[in-house]
Amino acid sequence: MRVDILTVGDELLIGQVVNTNATWLGEQFSAMGARIGRIVSMADNHNSIQAELQRSVEVADVVVLSGGIGPTHDDVTRQALADFFGVELCFDASIYQRIEERYAARGQTPPESNRALAEIPEDFEVLNNPIGTAPGLWHTVTDGEETTVVIALPGVPGELKAIVQDYVVPRLKDEVSLSSSAQRTLLTAGLGESELQERLQSSKLLENDEVELAYLPSSKGVRLRLTAHASSAQEAREKLQALEEKIRERVSDYIYGMDNDMLEAIVGEMLFERGLTLAVAESCTGGLLADRITNVPGSSRYMKGGVVAYSNTLKEELLSVSVDDLRMQGAVSEVVVLQMAEGIRELAHTDVGMAITGIAGPKGGTPEKPVGSVWIGLATAEDARAETFVFTTDRLFNKDRSCTEALNMLRRFLQEESDVQDTAEVSIEAPKQ
Ligand code: ATP
Ligand code: MG
Repeated sequence: MRVDILTVGDELLIGQVVNTNATWLGEQFSAMGARIGRIVSMADNHNSIQAELQRSVEVADVVVLSGGIGPTHDDVTRQALADFFGVELCFDASIYQRIEERYAARGQTPPESNRALAEIPEDFEVLNNPIGTAPGLWHTVTDGEETTVVIALPGVPGELKAIVQDYVVPRLKDEVSLSSSAQRTLLTAGLGESELQERLQSSKLLENDEVELAYLPSSKGVRLRLTAHASSAQEAREKLQALEEKIRERVSDYIYGMDNDMLEAIVGEMLFERGLTLAVAESCTGGLLADRITNVPGSSRYMKGGVVAYSNTLKEELLSVSVDDLRMQGAVSEVVVLQMAEGIRELAHTDVGMAITGIAGPKGGTPEKPVGSVWIGLATAEDARAETFVFTTDRLFNKDRSCTEALNMLRRFLQEESDVQDTAEVSIEAPKQ
């Protein structure tokens, strides 16, 4: 099923209002298995609306319009729909009665302009608006075998959402055979977009066009969006499953979760399960790592605290980093990050210490240590490790990405620990077999 989304409103074109309806509608319809054909914004203009309707009705199964169905003179969507389908606007007394009742509940009578809200294109069905006055509209057009549904919704986001959730989604699921695609997002960290692509593309993952793979990089890592299309929902889910397995075979170490999972919550849960405590020492991230960790409810069960040691003096005094190493190697170095991690671990009496030091940018780089260079360290009583990265010249991106990589380093460390334990358990049992 192809869904086209047409958002109407001058305010969308001039940057006065962010088009949240478009993204929200896109999410809702793709979640129910539809393919979004296009999203177009246009002015509150009769001709523009008709022109875009024309293009979409020809190719889409469902055309959803948002905005411009209110009572004011700049709301022209209803008239444009009537003209497009060659029908008249007709006054629907039951709609007006409902509007009068809404006003009466507050001891008021509706302004005269509200009569326009009850002017509905002939043969259109009315979708009751549970929280506002402008109702939604539904029109089914049948041309031989082909059926196209045209839906018009109020622009006010809360009203649009209510009508879509209460009415549009359930009815489309009922009436249109649409569940022919399935989607899942795998969340990765530790590899850049092109490194990931290299590992995945070289193998024959996408031998047919019924499965798609998209790379969505951000400071939280690269999201891999998997989509599968098929003639039935069951078949689409199976294809998606097969694609996911192939991807996991190749990059499983880098996948930390799915869909709306949060890396900080996953790592937190791992720490809690293993009964381990954590403290962090941050330089260039200025407390962001502690912030992200403590955004997770229940994080006090494993997170003991942190130090923002921005200056060298604090690195020396609070974290016992060696003055000589700071002078010889610089604050952004392996030896310093390891001392920071061990320093915070001892200061906070935790099982694990994590540290970040780097050059966030946009200035301050050298040929050996360019802007975006970051060292991340991890220390436990038995283990110490550090990794270095070179990110971008964007300061805030670098800060967030450094935290993502620190969390991912901790995740991989904890994962290895439990893999080692699993192997140990197997070898204890081995002699019995
Ligand atoms: P009303 O009865 O409120 O006039 P309407 O259908 O005419 O409903 P509009 O006048 O187009 O809706 O928009 C009403 C308000 O809804 C706008 O001021 C804007 O803040 C918000 N809005 C409209 N379209 C969008 C959109 N695509 N995304 C987010 N907000 C929107
Ligand atoms: Mg309006």
